[in-house]
Amino acid sequence: MFDVAIIGCGPVGAFAANLLGKAGVSVLVIEQEAHPYPLPRAVHLDHEMMRLFQSAGVIDRVAPDMRDTEGHLHVGADHGVIRYMGTVGRARPFSWSNDYFFYQPELEDHLRDALADYSNVTVQLGVAFEGLEQGEGAVTLRLSGGRSEQARYVIACDGARSAVRKALDIRLDDLDFEEPWLVVDAEVDGPVRFPDLWGVPEAANLQTLSVMMCDPKRPATIVPGRGNHRRWEFMLLPGEDDRAMMEPQSVAALVEPYLSGVPHRVVRAATYRFHGLIAERWRQGGVFLAGDAAHQTPPFFGQGMCHGLRDAANLAWKLELVLKGQAPDALLDSYQPERDPHVRAVISAAVGAGRYICMLDPEAAAERDAKMREAAKGAQHGTAADLIPAIATGIVATGTAGAGERFIQPRVGDRLLDDVTGGGWRLFTHGVIEADDVTVIDITTLDDQGAIAAWLADRKADAVLIRPDHYVFGTGKASDLVACRAALIAGVTHQEIAA
Ligand SMILES: Cc1cc2nc3c(=O)[nH]c(=O)nc-3n(C[C@H](O)[C@H](O)[C@H](O)COP(=O)(O)OP(=O)(O)OC[C@H]3O[C@@H](n4cnc5c(N)ncnc54)[C@H](O)[C@@H]3O)c2cc1C
Repeated sequence: MFDVAIIGCGPVGAFAANLLGKAGVSVLVIEQEAHPYPLPRAVHLDHEMMRLFQSAGVIDRVAPDMRDTEGHLHVGADHGVIRYMGTVGRARPFSWSNDYFFYQPELEDHLRDALADYSNVTVQLGVAFEGLEQGEGAVTLRLSGGRSEQARYVIACDGARSAVRKALDIRLDDLDFEEPWLVVDAEVDGPVRFPDLWGVPEAANLQTLSVMMCDPKRPATIVPGRGNHRRWEFMLLPGEDDRAMMEPQSVAALVEPYLSGVPHRVVRAATYRFHGLIAERWRQGGVFLAGDAAHQTPPFFGQGMCHGLRDAANLAWKLELVLKGQAPDALLDSYQPERDPHVRAVISAAVGAGRYICMLDPEAAAERDAKMREAAKGAQHGTAADLIPAIATGIVATGTAGAGERFIQPRVGDRLLDDVTGGGWRLFTHGVIEADDVTVIDITTLDDQGAIAAWLADRKADAVLIRPDHYVFGTGKASDLVACRAALIAGVTHQEIAA
């Protein structure tokens, strides 16, 4: 019997398998296709993902293919800028650029290739999940070819149409957004044109950030990819037929304003329904949903896959503790309460952006533009990464300053903090204390230019305890944090701790 079976080796399944492989548990990965889907869906990820790739030991494989970028620009009906979510000159809390563009099939190849490093990870390609039965301490999987396998836990990373989710009869909560869009990928030899654009901030480089044309005549997104890859997404207007819009002449007419005179080759055109959906239950017995199987978002902030990688990071350290007998199974019940509000907040923001991006009434769009310009006056521009909320419940010392936030990753000399400290639970404090299962780091010995001391001073705290997924467990007195961690992991409730 395997410790964990992962259904689906898309980016989320492959990433989860890397984390669990590194943790030393036995993993079975079941994937129905022999090769990753050859065309990109996701093109953007944020800096937290780069840090997670560090944790999974795959950063050296994936980083060379990443192209760092400078945020998002939203343009109104009159082709003037209405919202700038730029990252030029902004802090880099994890020492990575705030945003990256990439090519999804390459990322998936790297994540799959990395699994060969683990003798405790078995990958079965060309095998489909067909059904399951749950018993005491084991899940039996029915697979294609009449085969079966057993695992203590299963992570369903089998995508939006998840057969596992359907087998468990888990419904999706619909955030009431569904719009048809045409996705066009092209290889482009030259700069893309943006005719008639005005109000572009000086720092914004149109060739390196994603531009959202909120033009009621045809809402569209233009995204630079890695290398000469470029992505366009065009909203289909009422009455337009998917098939007709995918025809080469329709696609050529849509990209023409951006590519007139620029040599290019369209590599695909496909329609998608963008929607906001979240599974009502993320755990049933020994089975967990993760990635698109658990939630789907309109891609307006490029966060769909990022959510899934966060799911995997959240679940992996908890599974490791439970499987190694260091925590009760109940620890895994914190997965949905921690992840669902997180995902819901960001998907709701994307749905909110989708509502104004997809506005087709010219008067309403003009009113929107005026309001957004007024709101933006004098305000510090946010970035997409600012949308990520803190974890408010679960395995966090709620009520302590900074609890649930993502912890900074300063440079330590010429290295990155996590590479210096290693993964797992880390306590940053002044001096040294005894703590089981926690790496204690005396910040007075760290060559981090005082970054962590300043972070602690801002929160008026002596110490900070960091979870393996890099979220802040809590701040306060070092010994209190260690005791609180041990209690929460053992299943003591927040109320019992407070009493
Ligand atoms: C147009 C578009 C643009 C996007 N842009 C972004 C972006 O910029 N940034 C971002 O973060 N996200 C983006 N996304 C979302 C992102 O592509 C998905 O969130 C991500 O691919 C989900 O990964 P996953 O591993 O959960 O699922 P998938 O990638 O769908 O992988 C599921 C895997 O499970 C396998 N599988 C399915 N059923 C079975 C079965 N029965 N048995 C065995 N295997 C099975 C499939 O073959 C597949 O390999 C975008 C999506 C779209 C459509």
